[in-house]
Amino acid sequence: MNDYYGDLGVPRQATQQEIKSAYRKMARKLHPDVNPGPEAEAEFKKVSQAYDVLSDATKRAAYDRGQDPYAGASQNFGQGFSFTDIMDAFFGGSGAGSRGPRSRTQRGQDALVRLDIDLKTAVFGGQETLVIDTATRCSTCTGSGSQPGTGTRTCSTCAGRGEIQSVQRSFLGQVMTTRPCPECRGYGELIEQPCVDCAGEGRVRSRRDLTLKVPGGVDSGTRIQLGGEGEVGSGGGPAGDLYVEIAVRPHETYRRRGDDLHCSVQVPMTAAALGASLTVETFDGPTEVDLKSGTQPQDTLTLPGQGVTHLRGTGRGDLVVHFDVRVPTKLDDRQRELLGQLAEAREESRPEGRMTPASNGLFGKLKEAFSAR
Ligand SMILES: [Zn+2]
Ligand SMILES: [Zn+2]
Repeated sequence: MNDYYGDLGVPRQATQQEIKSAYRKMARKLHPDVNPGPEAEAEFKKVSQAYDVLSDATKRAAYDRGQDPYAGASQNFGQGFSFTDIMDAFFGGSGAGSRGPRSRTQRGQDALVRLDIDLKTAVFGGQETLVIDTATRCSTCTGSGSQPGTGTRTCSTCAGRGEIQSVQRSFLGQVMTTRPCPECRGYGELIEQPCVDCAGEGRVRSRRDLTLKVPGGVDSGTRIQLGGEGEVGSGGGPAGDLYVEIAVRPHETYRRRGDDLHCSVQVPMTAAALGASLTVETFDGPTEVDLKSGTQPQDTLTLPGQGVTHLRGTGRGDLVVHFDVRVPTKLDDRQRELLGQLAEAREESRPEGRMTPASNGLFGKLKEAFSAR
């Protein structure tokens, strides 16, 4: 009895994947194209036979019970040996999966559409209408592909098997090759009269509106999956899924960082010094903001819970107001005098020019300015 596990160099409990890769490795080394000569050829035949048995669950089980399908056949390959298996092993084909007629009904492909939304919709969520263009089931033939009242007949070229086998002579002896039937394209049956509306495809392209509930918290790049809203498959097969990819339009004042919103508010120097109350337009409506006396440029005020809704979990991010303190550039005589008096009172007529460490923020900006060049 042949030692197939030994021939492939795999343990008895090897998985299909291990068997396949062991065979592939050996076949690459021993293939007559790479390694001509009778010894390599004989060796190649041996490992191919071992692979043929061990890669087939039925044959392997029989072999494990002590029955060798090639017993007595010596080096002559038996009936069931298929050249496809070898080629599959070389080229990574699906092997046994491709047997028999294939079904005309196939699952459809997933579809991807882009949806542009406003930042406000991202903050709170909302309803959006999409126009989508996908394959849908043909209503005339309800997906069968046959003109109503007609049917299908068995393909005579392949006798309904969907594939054609031919025997070739090769260095392996007689081998069988299998290919899909060209007459019926592998379906094993032919449509007598194709449906005129879908040309026998069982599906047609159509455009429809779809209302989508966008959850609060989505961001550019978020994909929303809608099961069964994608392309209907050929033969009226089940539809794939539809993926809606969100793109949030830039807002004129608000910027988003995570689930926080940031805005910048101009305040005059005097208000920053004296303090004031001002109104900021937020997504929740006009909001009174308290500008503390002594507010410095770059100072911020956080309004908790007025940011973007968290997509996962509950609650919302914050809204951060950045104060952009403005120094007056044009002064009339009276203003200049008043500011002069203020400077005198604060003994700031001749500033000391005290040095402070450069802030990280300043460094970051400098870095950006340099790297932008
Ligand atoms: Zn049709
Ligand atoms: Zn056929």
